[in-house]
Amino acid sequence: MTSVSKIAPLIDELGPRFTRLSDEIWAHPELRWEEHQSMKKQIEAAEEFGARITEGAGGVPTAFSAEWGSGAPVIGFLGEYDALASLSQEASSTERNPDLESGTEAGHGCGHNLLGSGSLLAAVALARHMEENGLAGTVRYYGCPAEEGAAGKTFMVAGGAFEDVDAAVTNHPMPMASAAQWKSLAYTQAYFRFRGLPSHAGANPQHGRSALDAAELMNVGVNFLREHMEDTDRIHYAFIDAGGPSANVVQPTAELYYIVRSPTVAQMRTLYERVKKVAHGAAMMTETEVEIEFDGACAEVLPNRTLEEALYANVVELGGVPFDEADQEYGRVLSAGLPDGALEGARRQLGLDGDTEPYFTGVVPIPEPAHRHQMTGSTDVGDVSWVTPTVQMGAGTAILGTPGHSWQMVTQGKSPAAHKGMIHGAKAMAAVALDMVTDADLLTRAKDEFQGIIAKTPYDHPIPEGTVPPPLRDNYTPA
Ligand SMILES: [Zn+2]
Repeated sequence: MTSVSKIAPLIDELGPRFTRLSDEIWAHPELRWEEHQSMKKQIEAAEEFGARITEGAGGVPTAFSAEWGSGAPVIGFLGEYDALASLSQEASSTERNPDLESGTEAGHGCGHNLLGSGSLLAAVALARHMEENGLAGTVRYYGCPAEEGAAGKTFMVAGGAFEDVDAAVTNHPMPMASAAQWKSLAYTQAYFRFRGLPSHAGANPQHGRSALDAAELMNVGVNFLREHMEDTDRIHYAFIDAGGPSANVVQPTAELYYIVRSPTVAQMRTLYERVKKVAHGAAMMTETEVEIEFDGACAEVLPNRTLEEALYANVVELGGVPFDEADQEYGRVLSAGLPDGALEGARRQLGLDGDTEPYFTGVVPIPEPAHRHQMTGSTDVGDVSWVTPTVQMGAGTAILGTPGHSWQMVTQGKSPAAHKGMIHGAKAMAAVALDMVTDADLLTRAKDEFQGIIAKTPYDHPIPEGTVPPPLRDNYTPA
């Protein structure tokens, strides 16, 4: 019997409890570092299945671990449950309508309600299967907070949360089920606070030193810098403080928030140093002061080909997500409201013809490592992947062409189709984990591959020594 055939029926049986968990988290979206209720709901579900709970995993607030079994191997499942700002949206709608009942502007625009619940389902099923069959090993689920615009896992890595883990398995909701591993960008994000001198802007401008001028000049400088950086790099900024509403007072304060991304931590560090030089230059030009506060950072994902192939073999056996006609009916109406070209672009990328149904029921082949997809976003799964071999399932929970961080992603998040994709993803995750528990050779090969890379390119942890997670800092204010 294969791992899929052993574990899939158990996941179908346990599924309803975890689709309910996903829906509950969907209905009360919480932003990064504030996921107290979502964490509580996850812990309750894990405890119902006999888990031993550790709160504050790796010294990180709103993180936890749930553990079953004992001894080697230790298989870690990663789950997330944070939401995004400004994406409140009614469920199963075909148009943009904020969810007035949720009492928040936030919404699950990245499907992390499904992500965490699907990973927890896989962990619970694997633990139960191992217990029933007398298999040795530890199953540990990690509730990982603050993936969005933060890097909860990077701080958990710094806190040693994954030190004894033999391999990690996770998923991400996507517009198609896929075992193909993708690369991501490393990032650092930081606050740049300028301080100047207030003065009457009309009567005594010569006595003022404008922090707003400094912030604007920093942005202009960075925008010129763009011509001289790698095509793969990304820089984004936002004004946190533009110096207040008075135009007739020289602005004594201004604050910017920057995200600097590159394909590797090393390249990102170099670019970040250049951005800092621009900030100092802007301060010098305007005779203001600049203070830089590091916020967070994460590494790029290090894919593991051995585990990717093992995951893919399970997905091939499992087949595509079993979407039905009712799912496709809803998908067809919803797809009419996608941004122009989104659906066509997704079909083209997959080599599909124009008649493909909106919910993809096929299996995406895994490309050769040299042709891996380079995602231009980031994920803190990256840091876990540099401390233990890691594999990530793309759970097919949305229609083709669904943009990331969109109301369309939110509205699909508790649909029957999303539940099917979540359960399908949990089956693939649990099956590849069961392979590792029952086939020591697979785990050895995955580790050998990992060690071979780390020996040549050691993990470059992107968080400066001694930096605590943002909620533990004196100046922390919830997002
Ligand atoms: Zn996400």
